[in-house]
Amino acid sequence: MCKEDNSSINKLAKLKANLNESNYTVVFTGAGMSTEAGLPDFRSASTGMWNDINPLELASTQALKQNRQAFIDFYRYRVDGLRQCKPHAGHYILADWESKKMIKSIITQNVDGFHHTAGNSQVSELHGTLRTCHCNHCGERYPIDRFMSEDLTCECGGFIRPSVVLFGESLPADAFDQAELEAQKADLFIVMGSSLTVSPANLFPMIAKQHGAKLVIINMDETELDHEADLVINAWKIGSLLEELSQ
Ligand code: ZN
Repeated sequence: MCKEDNSSINKLAKLKANLNESNYTVVFTGAGMSTEAGLPDFRSASTGMWNDINPLELASTQALKQNRQAFIDFYRYRVDGLRQCKPHAGHYILADWESKKMIKSIITQNVDGFHHTAGNSQVSELHGTLRTCHCNHCGERYPIDRFMSEDLTCECGGFIRPSVVLFGESLPADAFDQAELEAQKADLFIVMGSSLTVSPANLFPMIAKQHGAKLVIINMDETELDHEADLVINAWKIGSLLEELSQ
């Protein structure tokens, strides 16, 4: 799927120029950003992450209600997996860029919390997060350690669950609104490691574009919005590309 290498160098130079010219850069990250940190993409069947059970069935409101122990086991397994991984160089470069005001914010589809771990503070977590858990009844929030403990019952009697968006739930309104605002304000919108197939998250690049932003897509494979992009880079891993860019 790689484009020819000689044009990659030109593309990198163009992206550098775009970054330097931009006054409001917003970065959008997807699964490709996390898989580089060693995290399996749980949607990918080939990774065989959860034995024989389809993870799509466990990451659902239906499983939360009707198959609770498997739901709990699945998410404890995912949190354990996260604890064995760390942000990669690319995450830290994005944190450095935020501190240098080269980027304004990140919109992410990832729930690993690695942008926060790396040091970014302006992050819209569209699909929620595994950094925290909350009561499914009253909404009281707890650190994720609570979910890893024996006691999953809130003071109100409700069930304490991870703060990720499950299939059957809508995206968190605060993160969604924040992301929409950021996409509207952006003059440069850079997608990193998302195939842009998950709706409604894939709307944000188009919102940015419609509000006049340049759209850059960096992904291993082609995406559904490549034809809308001002620049498409699919030759490098994101971490390596960010390292090249920051040199
Ligand atoms: Zn509660």
